[in-house]
Amino acid sequence: MFLLDPQLKDFDLQYVKGIGPHNKKLLRRKNIESVKELLTFFPRDYEDRREVVNIGQLNTGEYTIKARIIEIIAHRTRGPLRIDVIVGDDTGRMPLVFFNQKYITKVLKNDDELLISGKVEFNYGRLFFNNPDWEKVGLESSINHGRIVPVYPLTEGMSQNRMRNIVYNCLTFAKDKLMDPIPEKIRDEFGLPRINYALIRMHFPKHDEEFSMVSSFSTAYQRRLILDEVFLLQYFWGRKKLAVKRKKGIAFKINAPALDKIYANLPWELTDAQANALKEILADMEKKEPMNRLLQGDVGSGKTVVSLIAMINAVANGYQCAMMVPTEVLAQQHYVKILNFIRGLGINLGLIYSKMKKKEYDETTRKIAEGEFDIIVGTHALFQSNIEFKKLGFVVIDEQHRFGVEQRMEMIGKGVRPDVLVMSATPIPRSLALTLYGDMDFSIIDKLPGGRKKIETLTLFRDQDALLSLIKEHIGRGEKVFVVFPLIEETEKVDLLSAQNGYDALVDLFGVKCVGLLHGRMKSPEKMDIMDSFAYGDLSVLVSTTVIEVGIDVPEASLMVVMNAERFGLSQLHQLRGRVGRGAAASKCVLYTEVPINERLNVMVKYSDGFDISQKDFKLRGPGEIMGTAQSGVPPFKLFNVFRDRQLVETARKMISSIRKIYDEDAEELKDLNRLVKEYYEQKMKYSEIL
Ligand code: ADP
Ligand code: MG
Repeated sequence: MFLLDPQLKDFDLQYVKGIGPHNKKLLRRKNIESVKELLTFFPRDYEDRREVVNIGQLNTGEYTIKARIIEIIAHRTRGPLRIDVIVGDDTGRMPLVFFNQKYITKVLKNDDELLISGKVEFNYGRLFFNNPDWEKVGLESSINHGRIVPVYPLTEGMSQNRMRNIVYNCLTFAKDKLMDPIPEKIRDEFGLPRINYALIRMHFPKHDEEFSMVSSFSTAYQRRLILDEVFLLQYFWGRKKLAVKRKKGIAFKINAPALDKIYANLPWELTDAQANALKEILADMEKKEPMNRLLQGDVGSGKTVVSLIAMINAVANGYQCAMMVPTEVLAQQHYVKILNFIRGLGINLGLIYSKMKKKEYDETTRKIAEGEFDIIVGTHALFQSNIEFKKLGFVVIDEQHRFGVEQRMEMIGKGVRPDVLVMSATPIPRSLALTLYGDMDFSIIDKLPGGRKKIETLTLFRDQDALLSLIKEHIGRGEKVFVVFPLIEETEKVDLLSAQNGYDALVDLFGVKCVGLLHGRMKSPEKMDIMDSFAYGDLSVLVSTTVIEVGIDVPEASLMVVMNAERFGLSQLHQLRGRVGRGAAASKCVLYTEVPINERLNVMVKYSDGFDISQKDFKLRGPGEIMGTAQSGVPPFKLFNVFRDRQLVETARKMISSIRKIYDEDAEELKDLNRLVKEYYEQKMKYSEIL
C-alpha cells in the first residue's frame, strides 16, 4: 500500500515512542514487527466518543464525560479487589468501578481531571461506569476521547488505549517518510487523498466525519486504502499479462476443413453462447501472443465441447494438446466422450494418470514424447517433470478452482508458451474473476444448451422410506441414480464406512448387479470399470464418496441423492446437482439430512442458477471460504472485500488504463509502484522464476 523511506525499512519498532521491549513482544504476537506492519494494522471497528456530556445527562449506555476525582476508595473484601473512583463535575458525581486494577490507586490521585469513556450501568440504585477507559486530561487524552476512536483486534495484555497511543506515535513518526506509490497525476484524476492522510484518517478519523461512514469503512480516506489493495493486485496482474504477451507464442491458423469435420460429428449445433466463446478463443489462437483465457460457464453449459473444437484446430496446425482434469474418473470420462466426438477424424487420443500400470504408463509417456498422441487427457500426472511433449501447443485445464496459481504456472512452463484455456464452473461475479484471475482474459457461456429441464430439488429429513421409494421409482423407469456420501479428510475411514453401509443396504434391496460402489481408495482400473458399467452398462445405482463431484456426464442419470447434505458447501451441492438433468428424463435432486433442514439447504431448493447460489452462499458464509482465495494463490486482503467493494475493481482498472496512457511501463513516476508490487506480490506468489 505504501513504501517507507528506505532508511526506515529495518527500523526497530522498539524505538517508536511508547513501544519498548514489553509492547514489542505483545505486538509480535499479532505479527507486527515493522513500522509498516504497525501502520497497516487496521482498526476492526470504531467508537464514537465525540460527544462529551455532563454527569447530570447520563443514563445507561455508552458515554464520554470529563470530570475531576473527588475520592478513591479501595474495598478490601473477600473476592477481587474493587476500587471505586468517585468523580464529579458541576452537575453531579458518580463512581468509576474497577476490579483487580491495583495500579489505579498508584496512578490516580484526588483532583486529577479525567476524560472517561465506557459503559454506564445501573445497580444498587445508582449509575456507575463499569471499568471504563480513562485518561488524564492534557497528556494524550485527545487520542482516546472526545473523538471517533479506532478499535483494534488486540491480543491479551494490550489495551485499546495503549494501542491507540502506539499507533498515534508511529504515525507521527512516519507520516513524512511515506512514499505514495500512486503517481500524483493519477491521484488527482481519481480524487484520491495522499497515502499519509489516508493512513492517519484510517486510524484517527476526522472529527466532522459521519460516524456511519467511518464504521462502514466508506470515508474517502478508508476507500483510498481499500482501493490500493485491489489496485496493486490488478496492476500486478496487468504487468504479468504484459509479460506473457511479450513471450513468443504460436500463431495458429484457423483450419476450416478440420473444424467442419468436427462440427459434422457433433449430434447438435453449438449454442450461441458456445459459438461466441469459441470465436473469442479462436481469435486468440490466431494471434502470435500466447493465449491465457478463462472460460467460465455453469455445470453442463458445454465448455468441454468448446475446448475440444479449439484443440482440434491446434492439432490441425500440427501441435499436441493436453487437457488436464482434477480426477482420474473424470479423465476417463472425458477420454471416452472425446473419443466419441472425434470418431473418424484421424486424431490420436491418449489418456494418462499416475496410478496407471507401469508398462502402460511408460508406453503412454513414450507416445507423448514421440508425438504419437495428438490430444492427451489426464490428471496432474500430465505435467510431472518426466513427461516430455514433442510439440505441445495448446493446454486446457478443466475445473480451474482445483488448481492453484503455481500449478497453472508450472504447466505453462512446459512447452514453448502454448496457448492456455482454463475452464471453470464456479459461477463467480466479474469483479471476483478479475481479482483472482486478473492475468487472464475471460469468456463466458451464460446459457445452458436448450432442452435441459429444470432439476426439481427436495429436502428429506430422516425419511428413508420416502428416499427408497424415490430411488425405486427412478430405476423402475430404467433411469440411473447417484447416491453421494460426504468425504471429510480427517475421518476418511468413517466416511468410507457410511458409503459402504449405504451400499450394503442398497445391495440388500436391489441386488448386487444393480448397485455399484465408487470411492477414492479404490484402484484405478476398478474405478473405471464401475464408472463404465454405470454409464453404459447394468448398474442403476452408483453409491460414491465425492469423487464424482466434478464433471461426470451420464445422460440417463435422473436422480441425485446427496446424503448428509448439510455437510456440503452450496457450490459443491450445485456441482453435484448438475450431474443429473443431462438427458431426456425429468430429473430430481434429493438433499438428505440427519439434522433438521436449514436455511442453507433451502437456498438449493429455491435457486437453480449457480450465480444466485454463490451470492447466497456468500451472504451465509463469507466470500473467502467460498471462492477459496487461499487456493487461488492470491494473498489474503486486509481490507478489500470482493462483494462490498466490487465497484473499486472497476476503478482500479480505470486507474491502470490511465497510467498506461500517461506513462511508460518503466517510467520514473512508476518506480515506487513497480518496486512495491514486486516486494508485495512477486515474492508471495512465487512468480518471479517463471517470468
Ligand atoms: P460442462 O463441461 O460445461 O459442464 P459439457 O461440455 O460436459 O458441460 O456438456 C454438458 C452436456 O451437454 C454434455 O452431455 C454435452 O454433450 C451436452 N452438450 C454440449 N453442448 C451442447 C449443445 N450445444 N446442445 C446440446 N447438448 C450439448
Ligand atoms: Mg466439464
